[in-house]
Amino acid sequence: MTYKNITNLTGIDIKARLYEAVKRGVKVYEEECGRQTRFGEPVIAYANTSEPIFDMFWDNSFCKHPRKVYNASRAVIVYFLPYTDDVVESNKTAGGPSKQWVQAYHDSTWAIMKVHASLQEELSRFGRLSSICNTPNDWNFSHCGPEWNYKMAAYAAGMGDFGPAGCIMTSAGPAGRFGAILTDVNLVPDRDFGFANTESRGGTPEMYEEFKKYMKDACYEAECSDEMIAACPGGAISKEGIDRKACQEYCKTIFKHVPTPDLCGKCYFCK
Ligand code: SF4
Repeated sequence: MTYKNITNLTGIDIKARLYEAVKRGVKVYEEECGRQTRFGEPVIAYANTSEPIFDMFWDNSFCKHPRKVYNASRAVIVYFLPYTDDVVESNKTAGGPSKQWVQAYHDSTWAIMKVHASLQEELSRFGRLSSICNTPNDWNFSHCGPEWNYKMAAYAAGMGDFGPAGCIMTSAGPAGRFGAILTDVNLVPDRDFGFANTESRGGTPEMYEEFKKYMKDACYEAECSDEMIAACPGGAISKEGIDRKACQEYCKTIFKHVPTPDLCGKCYFCK
């Protein structure tokens, strides 16, 4: 991924340093954690916490505002650790999620902890404050999503569009795990991210309606193909779309505390 140099703080390329910190964190995970999952090249992106799309998420209970998580934050550093091809391919077979896929979900929690530590260490070299966003242990069962939502932050940072069951289609695909850290550094976002750069900025009701419609279409909550219906082991997909509650019920059978669709992901690769 390309990233723009910023020199407004210390005369050095902070974004390049942060990207290297993500990679260092993954290396520490590989060397110290004794887990089997490996990851592809990470993807990293940035969002400004004053971006109106976060107000809209918060006002309409999509997820917590980053400043409610960490009041001093000015930027969200979001990263994505893609699963390797063997893990992805293992999950494209019929039936429930593969062992490797579920293992990758759990292993990536360890990787995220190491990456967070590495990012905090790098930020502290510049004397910057930061706060780690918890790995998802704050699942909201009525919203079928976490209170602090990495994917919403990834969307706001322009990392990709939403896809089936609320996955994010990053430049490295939908298979992998997101992490994020909040900091008081003012890191300018790299690129436009469509919705929040439209004229409906400002967390207005129009913005909410537009986003709701976008989510319904993008997350396949309106219409699904036969391929998707056949792929779902939880019976959560019909012609009318994906039933997120039914998806959650199925994912609870895999990990009852955090029943995210990331545990299954069988529909992520369908058209
Ligand atoms: S249960 Fe699996 S395939 Fe079905 S909607 Fe949820 S994530 Fe997709």
